[in-house]
Amino acid sequence: MVVARNRNGQILINETAIETNVHNAVTRLQPGTELFAVVKADAYGHGAIQVAQAALRAGATGFCVAVLDEAIQLRQAGFVSQPILVLGLTDETKVDLIAKYDITVTVADVTWLRAAARLKHELRVEKSLKFFLALDSGMGRIGLQTPTEVRDFDVNLQQMQDEFDWQGLYTHFATADSPDEQYFNFQLQNFRAMLAVIECLPRYVSVANSAADLWHPVPEANLVRYGIAMYGLNPSGTAIKPPFSLQPALSLTSELVSVRQVVPGRSIGYGATYSVIKPTWIGTIPLGYADGLRRSLQGFSVLVNGERCPIVGRVCMDQMMVKLPGSVPVHTPVTLIGTDHGETITLQEMAEQCQTIHYELACGFSQRLPRVYY
Ligand code: PLP
Repeated sequence: MVVARNRNGQILINETAIETNVHNAVTRLQPGTELFAVVKADAYGHGAIQVAQAALRAGATGFCVAVLDEAIQLRQAGFVSQPILVLGLTDETKVDLIAKYDITVTVADVTWLRAAARLKHELRVEKSLKFFLALDSGMGRIGLQTPTEVRDFDVNLQQMQDEFDWQGLYTHFATADSPDEQYFNFQLQNFRAMLAVIECLPRYVSVANSAADLWHPVPEANLVRYGIAMYGLNPSGTAIKPPFSLQPALSLTSELVSVRQVVPGRSIGYGATYSVIKPTWIGTIPLGYADGLRRSLQGFSVLVNGERCPIVGRVCMDQMMVKLPGSVPVHTPVTLIGTDHGETITLQEMAEQCQTIHYELACGFSQRLPRVYY
């Protein structure tokens, strides 16, 4: 998709906010514990390369991504010599790429190891492949589920030691962002039972995403996989207060490209869902759902001169209309996320309007919106 650089509509990313968020997390780590910055999905829409650079400056010692292509993109950028862990499952046929770019993959069963070992021979890949083992303590997604499976994996791995370099293991909590700790504790118990049968633990033991890091210290772990909180967003939405303040890094701004008084009897937008009863000042913003601004934002607000103005009518693919308190000049700035004249609209607030989570909105802002760093 083309990046619309000749339109006033952009995502602004505050690199200092990212550095501060990472730095605050790094400062709280127990000695010997490391932080890998999670920059998957183009760093949750913030831009993987710039975020990775900011995270490194602030003390991150590695990265997590979701898919092999994201890992390769990061390695090819040239400034990352640190580990890059792919959290999703990578097809075993990619052993050559995994080795070539020195990527650490997630392994979830012994079948993968066997297939990868065979392919390594076929493709003459000599380097041993770095991997983390996924332990499914109750997320129900990927990984070994029982101590018996883990023991079996450990035994099998010992027969393939030359092929692989077992760097670490991790589990992922389903409810670390909830004030109810019951399921978290159930998962922790399962994780500990699996850990106990491993003869010799690898270098990294990781349990924490942002939420677990903020609210659930686990002493046997020594690696945090820090995602959403790095971007200054509370993993729990508003359910639990973070132990230190998180600084949101992302704002979204645009301008009014049209300002007109619409006459009574007319409607606004597709479906004619908003009727104009008395003369009404309507401003048009050149952004729409193709930029990731959802149709469910109808009825939400944007800031114009620090004042909340309701989005009226349906959000179109590339434009949306707002009701203005009066006449303002064309090109007046609009803040869709962020602060203007002391008034703030947060991504969390927008997510509530869209009945989703801020993660989903951040990842959903399309590539048409330029990312501008400051
Ligand atoms: N670890 C794994 C396995 C994940 O899937 C994710 C994100 O989805 C993270 C860590 C980072 O989570 P968060 O962004 O909540 O910190």
